[in-house]
Amino acid sequence: MQTSTDNIAFWLEKLCCPVDQNPLSLQNGQWECATCGFQTVNAKVANRDITDFRALNQRQMRTLAFELPLAPLKRYEFAERSFQAVNQDFDHYSRSQVRQRFGTKLDKGIQYYCQQVLREFGENAAILDLGCGSGGNRRYLNSLGFRNVFCVDWAASGADILVDAHRLPLQSGIADLVISTAVFEHLYNPFIAAAEIARILKPGGYFVGGASFWEGWHGSSHFHLTPDGWNALFVNSGLEWLDFWTGWGIVPAALTHVLTPGHFRSFGYALQNGIETVYRLLIGERGVRRLQLRASGSYMVCARKKTGVL
Ligand SMILES: [Zn+2]
Repeated sequence: MQTSTDNIAFWLEKLCCPVDQNPLSLQNGQWECATCGFQTVNAKVANRDITDFRALNQRQMRTLAFELPLAPLKRYEFAERSFQAVNQDFDHYSRSQVRQRFGTKLDKGIQYYCQQVLREFGENAAILDLGCGSGGNRRYLNSLGFRNVFCVDWAASGADILVDAHRLPLQSGIADLVISTAVFEHLYNPFIAAAEIARILKPGGYFVGGASFWEGWHGSSHFHLTPDGWNALFVNSGLEWLDFWTGWGIVPAALTHVLTPGHFRSFGYALQNGIETVYRLLIGERGVRRLQLRASGSYMVCARKKTGVL
């Protein structure tokens, strides 16, 4: 386990078998499931030994049920309920400040909902960072005062344990917040992963995150999500969306992801700002928001698990 001020013991008590969700027992430093024979191993990531709950050698069938038909988002209601957080006036870091201070990319909207969780559930809120990377989100969350953050990832040095997002080794109904940034496009079955997130959230718990839309195929990305795509995930997993907003614009995303990887980022931002300024002059702020919603490098979202859903 990584050294952390977080209450990791809380999470170790909530571990279960990723394959069948049965209880685990600790045997000689590894976790075991007496029912299916699952056993953790140690995986080396950047010279750290991290306990591996991915069950890489255990294949299984997962069945999902879908309710049909699915109603698409209503455009007007969608536009009206979007950009709520980013339109608020509150203390937050700029993108470059977050990057410098914490080594992560948390935009204004994500910061807003993290602060909302702090107001609503307090410093001991149980927070799962799904796809934590090097642990930058934890550093930001700790700086807000949170003390119960658990970091998991498929394979990253900041993880407390390694997991497969399609079968989390965590008991149901335990998390107040699941934060997952730039992860969902990398999942080969986002419906299963969304169902897993909904399973481990408490009723009323928050999901905050975002994923690629108009970005290049990168790092085994499978499904780049539109707002309707996010909505389909939520409807089918018992989550209800509260807010949508856009991450970076289509111009810097296309420039740095597709056309000239790694270059012209600041030129892309400047060009995007220029286009938005023209739109603002011609049709006002709502026109800019409509433009952003139609095409964006990424979409960001906040949803809550419906109460009364177990
Ligand atoms: Zn098992």
